[in-house]
Amino acid sequence: MIQESGLKGKTAIVSGGSRGIGRAIVKHLCACGVAVAFTYVKNGDQAQELMEQIQASGGRAAAFQLDVRDFLKAREFVEKVKNDFGRLDILVNNAGITRDKALMMMTGPDWLEVIDTNLNGTFNLTRNVIVGFLKQKSGDVVNIASVSGVAGLARQTNYSAAKAGIIGFTKALAKEVAAYNIRVNAVAPGFIETDMLSGLRQEYRDEIIKRVPLGRIGRPEDVSGVVEFLLSQQANFITGQVIVCDGGLFIQ
Ligand code: NAP
Repeated sequence: MIQESGLKGKTAIVSGGSRGIGRAIVKHLCACGVAVAFTYVKNGDQAQELMEQIQASGGRAAAFQLDVRDFLKAREFVEKVKNDFGRLDILVNNAGITRDKALMMMTGPDWLEVIDTNLNGTFNLTRNVIVGFLKQKSGDVVNIASVSGVAGLARQTNYSAAKAGIIGFTKALAKEVAAYNIRVNAVAPGFIETDMLSGLRQEYRDEIIKRVPLGRIGRPEDVSGVVEFLLSQQANFITGQVIVCDGGLFIQ
């Protein structure tokens, strides 16, 4: 029997939904009939515009300002979403930043900001949803990692460490909560066309494209499709996995 995605009618939190990959995930999930509460930290205008776009097309989405580095604010946000939407089924930890530099040039703040946003941000939201998921004996978590956390990338020691941490977190939590019908997976994107790549020099971009077997930089929708799959019924026997989405760049 062919299964439905099973996503219609669910409620999700997506962190960092105002731009890039998170924005594509918000749109993708809303198109599947999921009600989405998404966060932004600075770009209120883009968040508002996305919310209006989804509402105009008949979907349900709400934007909230949240700095994922703040544990107590993350708790307030999760409680508010549960009150406003009546339930919570899905968490997508997507918010992330880079501060790329060779280690010999990296400052303490460069290191801490990246660990705090990517890794601690993932802890802050997951810790605040997990008790509800355990009580209801259901829930799905998808963490956005990176090939940088799988393979390691030069000039990204801070980011590779944070993303490798997210991968360890994903695997450990998947084992811890599987008995409660909660799945925890990660997606590790390669180079994806978002503001995060805006600082890349053209020669480096051309070099990347030459090295990607599928011959292009990825699109945010390439990643959001994998997130939808991991959250769907079709993936209901998959947990603790990291799906690399990189056009073949880091084929092992
Ligand atoms: P992006 O276009 O720069 O968007 C980043 C998003 O995260 C924005 O919505 C931003 O909100 C939000 N954000 C940043 N700091 C935050 C904080 N402290 N609290 C809450 N939200 C915060 O980045 P992206 O390329 O879409 O990246 C999304 C995820 O994919 C990240 O985890 C990134 O590490 C990962 N990734 C990206 C690539 C790539 O090539 N693009 C590759 C591998 C993995 P504002 O709009 O308000 O600033």
